[in-house]
Amino acid sequence: MSRMTTYKPQYSLEAGIELMRKGIDGRVKSYFSSCVHCGLCAEACHFYVETGDPRYTPIHKLAPLKKLWRQEYTFFGKLASKLGISDPLNEEDFADWEELVYDACTLCGRCSMVCPVGNDIAGMLAKQRAGFAAAGYSPEGLKGATKRTVEIGSPMGLTWKALEAQIRHAEKDTGLTIPVDQQGADYLALLSSLEIMGFPEYISSIARIFDHAGVSWTLSSQAFEATNSGIQIGDANVARELLQRVFDAAESLGVKNIISPECGHAYTAIRWESGNLMGHEIPFRIIHIVELLDELKAAGRLPTQGKTSTKVTFHDPCNLVRKGGVVQQPRRLLNAVAEDFVEGPECGTMNWCCGGGGGVSANERAEELRLKAFRRQRDQFNSLGVEAVVTACANCRNILEEGIEYYEMDVEVLGLTELLAEYLDVDNKNGGSPA
Ligand code: SF4
Ligand code: SF4
Repeated sequence: MSRMTTYKPQYSLEAGIELMRKGIDGRVKSYFSSCVHCGLCAEACHFYVETGDPRYTPIHKLAPLKKLWRQEYTFFGKLASKLGISDPLNEEDFADWEELVYDACTLCGRCSMVCPVGNDIAGMLAKQRAGFAAAGYSPEGLKGATKRTVEIGSPMGLTWKALEAQIRHAEKDTGLTIPVDQQGADYLALLSSLEIMGFPEYISSIARIFDHAGVSWTLSSQAFEATNSGIQIGDANVARELLQRVFDAAESLGVKNIISPECGHAYTAIRWESGNLMGHEIPFRIIHIVELLDELKAAGRLPTQGKTSTKVTFHDPCNLVRKGGVVQQPRRLLNAVAEDFVEGPECGTMNWCCGGGGGVSANERAEELRLKAFRRQRDQFNSLGVEAVVTACANCRNILEEGIEYYEMDVEVLGLTELLAEYLDVDNKNGGSPA
């Protein structure tokens, strides 16, 4: 594994406020000043819609950042501060809003889609989280996951040794050798620890698929974890360190492409946030596993045979679909292996979040609220009458399984990669052509 460091954050209210101050750039100033208080963002948020609690209105969750903006950038705010009739941002604000910032927001971005004046509310919430994390106002579950990722290498405390055991299982299961530290491979595949422990069949599935399609790939014993707890908690230094571990491993192996696993936020972190975080262009092509499978299918390298007759729908992972624009790829793949694939009325970029994104799944105290928000999914699956829901994010999959069990529903949850691996046309390897 890459050399691990110690995670000992020095929390300070001043540092948190300073980070929030830095986050108030031209865009944030214009967002706050252009809000017309229409309340449309409330109707877009699963936490508000399923509870009716006005505190869960997205723009309200931004009150601390807004307070700072008002006091430092508006005439009346500055005047009120000068006259001493407006308190500066203080510990109480942080303590009062921590739950709204971390438990009642999955950073899903649905609110940003509906704002009539184009406010990126989710983007502002991420900036506000950075200040809360630096001030020490973040949930213990997320702090623990961040510490384990920095010090051990994964948010669940999973080591390379534990992954090796899963690799041996997958090799036994598939009869294939799983490549590790393969110099010069075309693709470096990352995994999420949730996948490794909860859905290890993903490893067997990519081994089968890549063998079938003739893809040259490898895992790295130096960096296997895709989950970026730094992004979830709002700590840019941690986020950078975790990304650097992956890029160092990719560089030392001489690979050109990095595959994000079925994990939505990991994909956003490495594909969309890494350039800004690292401050330079990323010298690797980064692709989500679903994008790669779609490319292979389109190139005729992934012939399949037969389809499931189970009535299925697709749960769109927010990070992959709404934020990442990977909308049609999973649908094309699903249509190739499912004969009864139905869509909900609010699918694709306007999907409802599973309720566990943005680190909420690692935050135990948020469980009750998360399960309330899951009623959105429950009602949607019930109205569609599906027997199974397919998704392409291990975190969504885990949350869907928990919600379905809690509401005692008879719906199976499947991973898209595994479903595809089940229907490979074994007599037509690599589309019948050389790799
Ligand atoms: S990002 Fe999602 S969870 Fe957060 S406030 Fe907006 S709609 Fe709600
Ligand atoms: S939808 Fe936009 S304009 Fe309306 S209240 Fe929310 S942030 Fe303000």
